[in-house]
Amino acid sequence: MFDQLRAQLPGWVQDSRALANQGKVAAYIPELAKAPQHVLGITVTGRGGESVSVGETDFKFTMQSISKVFTLLLAFMDHGEEGVFAKVGMEPTGDDFNSMLKLELVEPGKPFNPLINAGAIAVTSLIKGDTPAIKTERILRFFKEASGGANLAVNSAVAKSESATAHRNRSLAYFLKDNEVLGEEVDVEEVLQVYFDHCAVEVDCPQLARMALVLAHGGVDPITGRELVPRRYVQIAKSFMVTCGMYNASGEFAIKAGIPAKSGVSGGILALVPGQYGIGIVGPALGAKGNSTAGVHLLEQMSTAFDWSLF
Ligand code: GLN
Repeated sequence: MFDQLRAQLPGWVQDSRALANQGKVAAYIPELAKAPQHVLGITVTGRGGESVSVGETDFKFTMQSISKVFTLLLAFMDHGEEGVFAKVGMEPTGDDFNSMLKLELVEPGKPFNPLINAGAIAVTSLIKGDTPAIKTERILRFFKEASGGANLAVNSAVAKSESATAHRNRSLAYFLKDNEVLGEEVDVEEVLQVYFDHCAVEVDCPQLARMALVLAHGGVDPITGRELVPRRYVQIAKSFMVTCGMYNASGEFAIKAGIPAKSGVSGGILALVPGQYGIGIVGPALGAKGNSTAGVHLLEQMSTAFDWSLF
């Protein structure tokens, strides 16, 4: 596979790059608007650590919604399935990632799933730690472990920029508080701070691919042999990636690519081929549903060529 990938990936990247013209760099977080429209990079890493990188794979970007998968895993390790599913549901919404619609429809105020913003904010409130700084530190430590020991950090300019303009996330969070999804003990502004920080953890494509590799191998880092997350929790996270990982384009992506993936508004996509590869992609120009246009096209081409669809 790696030989074929080395031979074909440069051509696929070149074809996909043109798709950046059909997208727009996210601007609702002002710092993100600085990203260049035509960057495209991809790293694919295999179980022995072998990897192929094509394009601007050193380009640094913030994880944004991709981080929600890993905070979910940490919340499961902190509280178990019951604790997490007391706060969030298991269903896709079919609405935008920051939607306020349907928050009243399940149980009062309980978000449909942990990958929409409302659900991810509820999950962030579950992360253990006495102060927001300790919570962020625990999250960062876990992300570092998952990336095989990379020196990851929060891009505080991005976190600040998001906080300064997060009227919608703030209203979602206060709504959750009003409905007691965020309990009495929870300080809304503190939860939001931790949420903005974990969304602003900065990575490059090889680091993201390495994190994806751990998910591809059921929570075990195949390179070190260490179990980082119980298999069951990874199984749940991957189910969410398939049903909700690409926001309201998850159905189309399941049909066209058919692998678990999670995108973020900075243009990152984490994807994986179960039992095999971890994939990290960046392409900042986003389509109408918030996914990297070039990145999605690239993954669809690769999945078709290698027959990766789980279905
Ligand atoms: N931090 C971003 C937000 O809350 C994450 C959203 C995303 O990547 N879709 O708006």
